[in-house]
Order: sequence, then structure tokens, then C-alpha cells
Amino acid sequence: MRGFLVVGNKAVTKPFSLKDLAGSAGRMDILCRCVAQALFISHGIRRDSEIYLLLLGKPDPPKALKILGSEVRYMAPDERNIGGLIRKALQIKVDSNWKLSTPGIYIARKNLKDLLDEISEKYDTIVYLREGGVDIRDVACDLKNPLFVLGDHIGLRDEDERLVLKYADMTVSLSPLSLQADQCVVITHYELDRCSMQSESKAKAETNP
Ligand code: SAM
Repeated sequence: MRGFLVVGNKAVTKPFSLKDLAGSAGRMDILCRCVAQALFISHGIRRDSEIYLLLLGKPDPPKALKILGSEVRYMAPDERNIGGLIRKALQIKVDSNWKLSTPGIYIARKNLKDLLDEISEKYDTIVYLREGGVDIRDVACDLKNPLFVLGDHIGLRDEDERLVLKYADMTVSLSPLSLQADQCVVITHYELDRCSMQSESKAKAETNP
């Protein structure tokens, strides 16, 4: 299993206009792109991938979404489609328990600590993605059941970063450059996919020497 948690510092917590994802919806476009990159491949869905979105914008924060590749249906990889599904989930009256909105998409009232508590029970390794960490290539192939935490255009606020660092097993960097959040999701999948490819070719070589 691979997981991602993206913090949307300004992402609104009420239904929003699909015509203004990047503006009045609080950079919901970034979160939609992260969902697409976390779950979609060409003509298919990564069933072993899931993504959590933490929405911290007005008027009713915090709200969290959990989107499971293993269950999701009727989702297309474009921002408008994913934005529409998030908007639908935001119509639900939330409490601390996950409520199903549409197949594979759940919503609850959870803050960052609630999410990290839950996630750290489910995942073996919590990785904070951030500029200046250890090189992904030094650790990627040894990561067991990892969840990657990342920020939106603002990054993580200081207090949120301190909290994430309490749960994180390591801070990992993907590039010497500061990347966009969805680019980080793509590169992370790519690096982990390469590890699977290498272990498959190694296994083949051992069975057919
Ligand atoms: N101004 C923001 C800051 O200083 O954090 C930039 C945030 S960046 C657009 C979005 C997120 O992608 C960051 O919060 C971080 O989690 C992740 N990120 C960006 N560049 C990265 C890199 N080179 N390696 C690992 N993660 C990175």
C-alpha cells in the first residue's frame, strides 16, 4: 500500500464553484491534481494507493477526506471531475467518524493530529516530503508500506510541521528544487515503481540464470 496526505491550508470546507478551483475554492486545484496523480495511471487506477486531504480553509475547518484507490469508481482524472466529487463530499454533515460520500470517498471532522494518529496505525513508515531531506533514491527501495506527507502551495505551517516531524520516520527530498505538490506525488510513485521493476527483474534473473 502507498498513501499520501496533503495539507490544504486554504482549501475551503464548504461546497465551492468548480469554475474557480484555484481562487475562491482555496487552491483546491492543487488537491485535485494530487488526487489524480496519486490514483490514476494510463487507463486505470492504482488500487494499492490512497490519499488523504486535510482541508483547513474557511468556513468550517478542519475537514478530512480519504480517497481509496481500491474502492473508487466513477472518477475521471481531470480536476473538474475530482473537484465535483470533493464538493459532493462537502455537502455531508461531518463528525469524527468517516462517512461515505461516493464510492471510495469518505469525509470526517479530523485535524492533523487525528489523521496522523490514525494513519500511523495503518502505515509502517511515515515519510515527510520536504526540500533538504535525504535523497529518495537512498531509501525508496527499503520503504515498507509508506505514507508520504506533503504541503500545498504554502507548505506546512510551523506548528503543523513540528507535529508531522513527531510522527515521521524520515524527511525525504525528491529534487534540489522546490516542486509543486502534484509533481512530488508523481515522482514518488515513479521512484517506488522503479524499485518494484528492479526487484522483479532481479527475481527473473535468479529463476532463469
Ligand atoms: N513555499 C512552500 C514551502 O516553503 O514549503 C512550497 C511548498 S511546495 C509548492 C509543496 C510541497 O511539496 C512542500 O510542502 C513539500 O511537502 C513538497 N516538496 C516540494 N519540493 C520538494 C522536494 N524537492 N522534495 C520533497 N518534497 C518537496
